[in-house]
Amino acid sequence: MVKEKKEILRRYRGLLRAAVRSKSPQDKRRIRKAFDVALEAHKDMRRKSGEPYIYHPIAVARICAEEIGLDTTSIVCALLHDTVEDTYITLEDIVNLFGEKEASIIDGLTKISGVFDHATSAQAENFRKMLLTLSDDVRVILIKIADRLHNMRTLDHMRPDKQLKIASETLFMYAPLAHRLGLYNMKTELEDLSLKYKEAETYQEITSKLQKTQAVRTRFINKFSLPIKQALEAQGIQFEIKGRTKSIFSIWNKMVNKYVPFEDIYDVFAIRIIIDVPLEQEKSEAWKVYSIVTDFYQPNPDRLRDWISMPKANGYESLHTTVMSPTGKWVEVQIRSRRMDEIAEKGYAAHWKYKSGGETAESILDNWLAQIREVLESSDDDALTFIDDFKLNLFSEEIYVFTPNGDLKTLPKGATTLDFAFSIHTAIGSKCIGAKVNHKLVPLSHVLRSGDQVEILTSKKQSPKEDWLGYVATARARTKIKTSLKEEKKKVAAEGKDILRRKFNSLGIDFLSVNITTLSKHFKVDSALELYYRIAVGKIDLKKLKGYTIENGRLLFERQAESKTKETQEFISPVPGKKDALLIGDEEQQLDYSLAQCCNPIPGDDVFGFVTVSGGIKIHRDNCPNATQLMSNYAYRVIRARWASKELTQFEVQLRFTGIDDIGLVNSVTNIISADMHVNMKAISFESNDGIFLGMVKVLVHDTEHLSSLTEKLENINGVTMVERVRKEDIEGTR
Ligand code: MN
Repeated sequence: MVKEKKEILRRYRGLLRAAVRSKSPQDKRRIRKAFDVALEAHKDMRRKSGEPYIYHPIAVARICAEEIGLDTTSIVCALLHDTVEDTYITLEDIVNLFGEKEASIIDGLTKISGVFDHATSAQAENFRKMLLTLSDDVRVILIKIADRLHNMRTLDHMRPDKQLKIASETLFMYAPLAHRLGLYNMKTELEDLSLKYKEAETYQEITSKLQKTQAVRTRFINKFSLPIKQALEAQGIQFEIKGRTKSIFSIWNKMVNKYVPFEDIYDVFAIRIIIDVPLEQEKSEAWKVYSIVTDFYQPNPDRLRDWISMPKANGYESLHTTVMSPTGKWVEVQIRSRRMDEIAEKGYAAHWKYKSGGETAESILDNWLAQIREVLESSDDDALTFIDDFKLNLFSEEIYVFTPNGDLKTLPKGATTLDFAFSIHTAIGSKCIGAKVNHKLVPLSHVLRSGDQVEILTSKKQSPKEDWLGYVATARARTKIKTSLKEEKKKVAAEGKDILRRKFNSLGIDFLSVNITTLSKHFKVDSALELYYRIAVGKIDLKKLKGYTIENGRLLFERQAESKTKETQEFISPVPGKKDALLIGDEEQQLDYSLAQCCNPIPGDDVFGFVTVSGGIKIHRDNCPNATQLMSNYAYRVIRARWASKELTQFEVQLRFTGIDDIGLVNSVTNIISADMHVNMKAISFESNDGIFLGMVKVLVHDTEHLSSLTEKLENINGVTMVERVRKEDIEGTR
């Protein structure tokens, strides 16, 4: 116990040393206070490893300070990040002890894990979207990443199934997020750690192979760098040259996705030349180095990247070129200043070290946080990378709000409290009288914002009103309100019907639909229901009925002939709308797409979209041989897609059929295809071998229904034993 206390204090002092930006007595007091509160709150808790729980918040705070370079407020919040969720400490306590800012950050962290705990895969998707909107204070996201990194570093003690789940989430949420924020080192570590648990064997294999090939790489790097080194020294440039191997994860990624063996990629690496120069000479010196490098090695003009003049959205600055080495291998050379290098590895966290005159450390952090916010919110910088990372543009029209229990609801932008109420249950929507949004009373028409917590207030006496239709943004709420209004109207209309029946009786008019239609036309209403309703509510006064005659129980108006012309309005036949054949994403937008070559989907097929790195959205069939791999490895890049309509486009399909060779068989087949079905045939080939024939035909069809009816007809031909749709690989395989 005494030993443990000593160890806790040792780790706490380590944190203080790492918190280089929190040196004032006041900062130190705040950190000490947070540490004391967290220590007391977690005092009876232990981690899965058996260690005191407090090790975890201390470690998370240290990552925030040391690896992200965050400020005192972040360190305080990191120390307290699990207290509200897991201990007796409340948000009010945090407000009282530390302040509003700290409380709102910890609230954000708690909300995220609230959603996270009952997260299935689908909710993990929601979680990721939410990160982007729940970032009132970006520190929430940064602390969450630090939290995840420490949990990944200590994942050994978890159950294997939990390890797998956490590792998968890390890979598709946290690593891209870290990358997005320019936290390159953290991203790499998160990826490698994820792989360690997801693909333990492969991970070990790559690790050991990397160790074994280390000497070969070192030799190559030394030989390659030597002339550059000498030239740089002769020029008096201060520099450092590093050989950067790919990370274990990126090697694995390449092996899996490009089907290349380790032996083909282990020696793919970059040479990094880091120069020590004052800020104002960075650019010119970098180009000087470029010129020296290309004096020795031939550059590939297509592979020059100048991120010094035009830094990447996440702040990355560097000059890249790819040159040919004497052994005939392309080598990437990265040229950058010391400052750029630190920023590339640690993100903007490194910026404060390079503060220029006038800027305080605080204002630099604020600028950085503001920039991260911008990165998170922007949707048009380097669009492809962005879609790749987050497909935010597909979701920018959505907001994420919470129920009082912390459940997450996704609603379209502009949704109101009333939409929210109907999204929970029709009965709640119908009885809704208002809501409490973040504990504040608001009306039905209140427009919600991401991160709002909404509690619906209901009353038994409430019922949907006509003007509610103007308050809602979702189709669901609108339909429910309309249905309910119609029900209500029907009840009222029943009374009106009785009134009319009595009136007709007293006038000697038969209560027949022909007379009711006549009356409806006279009052210019378009249905009997509407007529009854207006009678019931007094909008139509039957006492004022004039200008009519009654013949044998039939009601006739003098000007009936006139109104008849109005009825025979021109009938305009509907022109089929020009729609894209595919609706993509949760919002069913019509986005640009292309059809995947591997499975050639056609309308009617169950399909999904996959956001590729450079080719936009590709549509695959659900049963595409690549589907499982895409979905499991890149769940975050998979988007929903469905066919809007069928008969718009024609799609190419290949059919293979086999059977017994028979005279006239080719004729029957071509007849069916071209004559019977009006199918457009593009190519046909037949091969015969010892009485067995193999036919291949390429046709254009509209959809799966069309295709299966064609297939059926072909199967019915005498001699044909099998007809099947061909995938592309199969075709290539037969060649
Ligand atoms: Mn935690």
